[in-house]
Amino acid sequence: MTGSSDSALRVLVIGGGLGGLCLAQGLRRRGVRAVVFERDPDPTPPAERYSIDINAFGNRALRECLPPPLWDAYVAIAGQSLRGVRFVTERLDPLIGVDWPAAERAEDNDWRVSRHKLRQVLLTGLDAQVHFGRKLAGYEPARDGRVRAVFEDGSEAVGDVLIGADGVGSRVRKQLLPAAEVRDLRIAAIGAKFPLAQHGERPWLPGPLLERMTIVLPSASCGMFITQYRRTERGTRPTGVPDDLLAPDIEDHAFWSLIARRAGFGAPGDLRDLPSGEMRDLVAGMVRGWSPVLRRLVADSPLHTFAAISIQSSSAIPQWESTNVTLLGDAIHTMTPLQGLGGNTALRDAARLCRNLAQAAEGRLDVRAALGDYEAQMRRYAGDAVRVSRRYAEQFVSDNRMGRAGFKAFLRVADNIPPLKRRLFAPARAKAGWPSAPQSRSALGSSRR
Ligand SMILES: Cc1cc2nc3c(=O)[nH]c(=O)nc-3n(C[C@H](O)[C@H](O)[C@H](O)COP(=O)(O)OP(=O)(O)OC[C@H]3O[C@@H](n4cnc5c(N)ncnc54)[C@H](O)[C@@H]3O)c2cc1C
Repeated sequence: MTGSSDSALRVLVIGGGLGGLCLAQGLRRRGVRAVVFERDPDPTPPAERYSIDINAFGNRALRECLPPPLWDAYVAIAGQSLRGVRFVTERLDPLIGVDWPAAERAEDNDWRVSRHKLRQVLLTGLDAQVHFGRKLAGYEPARDGRVRAVFEDGSEAVGDVLIGADGVGSRVRKQLLPAAEVRDLRIAAIGAKFPLAQHGERPWLPGPLLERMTIVLPSASCGMFITQYRRTERGTRPTGVPDDLLAPDIEDHAFWSLIARRAGFGAPGDLRDLPSGEMRDLVAGMVRGWSPVLRRLVADSPLHTFAAISIQSSSAIPQWESTNVTLLGDAIHTMTPLQGLGGNTALRDAARLCRNLAQAAEGRLDVRAALGDYEAQMRRYAGDAVRVSRRYAEQFVSDNRMGRAGFKAFLRVADNIPPLKRRLFAPARAKAGWPSAPQSRSALGSSRR
């Protein structure tokens, strides 16, 4: 699974999250030397035991960067494909529903994936390249136009290129682009996992809630989404990968999340500091008049699975003069998690940057030109994703009852016009770029999470 002959170019990657590790895998595959420095001393933090949506853009990036046995392992561990979306009222009255046929090529599907397993796949084979417990303090120019990374433990590393893949609080961004802002949107979410193992004993949970992404729209101020992770047997058992990579790590579950303005939850301070019982009580109060099924989903979700998040977003992606230092993923384009685009965009960045760095390593492109081309493209697709996901979050929590009523009426009409419906809710694989015009225009007109 190693790359071919190593190039002279040495790439320092700061941050071993989804984007940084995908980049390291891709560079290794292309024979470019890369070293990852991750601040966390633990390769698999316990907080990662949940699932995320990886869409066609994320899958294509993984296919490009992972060596074939690891791609096969990823396909084997991915959960069921996302087969469509439906919008319902808080009483579970249908508004619109769209089904997506399975795509022919594996990578063109959307999958729900264990985040912990995905990280395990991305770490496989990189033992010698990933250094844990190394927190970047800053960077500075080194001799011959190279760059020196300085770590909080006093150690240093020198490379030709430095990539800040260090997430939302990025040290690299703060030094490279001190004016770039990440805004707290004052929107919060409380969610939990509901185990599906004994679903047979729970006839109260209707099938549609277990098969499609469901978006619940009450009259205003908040919304809920419900999705599922189910392990799926897919493809032949891959060979040449460690057995524990293929072992299940999370149980099949439905995941729900209630999103509202932080003040709307009616609790002082940071919701993340609340005991799980209080989180559950807050949500139970907010869904009091909703369908009994949704109330029960909240009430019966195990307390230890409750979690709250605070939603942030980059203000805009600034222009800057290209050097041998750049940024990828949340470090440069933090976006709301509502459309599930953040990780997918980080993976897309990694694949794009990997291609350009490989050309630089082969001497076909100057390093600055390689980074400049990546930055120009990333600004376009990631800028769109940041805008769309922020608008979506703000509309989700809007107090505009008239607007929400109009949007619901529009969905009911669109449900009877198949071409319009297909256009509004095309899966990511059908798009040339990120969300198209109808999604941007409508009040909440996107199915992408
Ligand atoms: C609840 C929730 C659900 C989500 N669901 C989805 C989804 O379904 N689909 C999707 O595509 N996205 C989703 N996202 C977004 C996704 O998780 C992020 O966009 C993605 O993790 C970004 O990847 P990254 O590599 O840029 O950053 P990260 O994954 O955050 O990795 C950054 C890494 O850098 C390390 N680091 C930070 N500072 C330093 C330092 N100074 N020195 C060294 N290392 C450092 C961190 O420890 C971390 O490991 C979700 C987010 C949340 C909060």
